Amino acid sequence: MNPAELAARLARVRERLDHACAACGRRPEDVLLVAVSKFHPASDVAAVAGAGQVDFGENYVQEALEKRAELAREPVAARIRWHMIGHVQSRKAALVAGAFALIHTLDSVKLADALERRLADSGAMQPVLMEINIGEEPQKAGIMAADAAALAEHVLARCPHLELRGLMCLPPVFDAGDAARPYFARLRRLGGELRSRLGIGLPELSMGMSGDFAAAVAEGATIVRIGTDIFGPRPVKMGAPVA
Ligand SMILES: *Cc1c(COP(=O)(O)O)cnc(C)c1O
Repeated sequence: MNPAELAARLARVRERLDHACAACGRRPEDVLLVAVSKFHPASDVAAVAGAGQVDFGENYVQEALEKRAELAREPVAARIRWHMIGHVQSRKAALVAGAFALIHTLDSVKLADALERRLADSGAMQPVLMEINIGEEPQKAGIMAADAAALAEHVLARCPHLELRGLMCLPPVFDAGDAARPYFARLRRLGGELRSRLGIGLPELSMGMSGDFAAAVAEGATIVRIGTDIFGPRPVKMGAPVA
């Protein structure tokens, strides 16, 4: 897509996000927009960054690192903050630890320990969110809500280089607007329960995508992850997972 069109799409999303905040009495600066660039070329990321967007999310470790290497030549690349929003296998922890401003998808003790080992070597702190399988779907990534406190306690006790910042979810309904809202409400309540049970801050709620971000904002999202409405439909790659 050409840069002017991408800039216009970004502006339109920004406007809708501001509107969603106003509709529930929240301040636009309290909701971070992450532009989800999976499957889109580095040149499109450069165009959207050139239009003022700072935070970008990627799902696949390999793709994220390749795209970033490609973007390194662009002057705008220096101020991009990268987010890992896809499932991370423990064996890829070395590639991910310390390489992203925020990892949204911590979902196991195994991954926490793998990240911690790498971070301890470098001394870097890594902000993370716990991904919650909020619809309790058997095939889906994320930890069950009932197991979230135990994972958080493990991180607090054993992973001094992980900074637990909050929760993330992908509701079981997709592109469904208000139908997703009860799941967002559930994530917000879980955040509150964990805060009082563990006595920690957990300020972030990463929830809401192109098809449902207004509902997420109404339920307290502090981070929304928007791909399609900014970059257009994702190109289908042979053999690539459609997610
Ligand atoms: C792809 C993806 C998004 C963006 O989805 P859109 O519907 O394109 O806005 C957000 N979050 C996660 C975890 C994703 O995988």
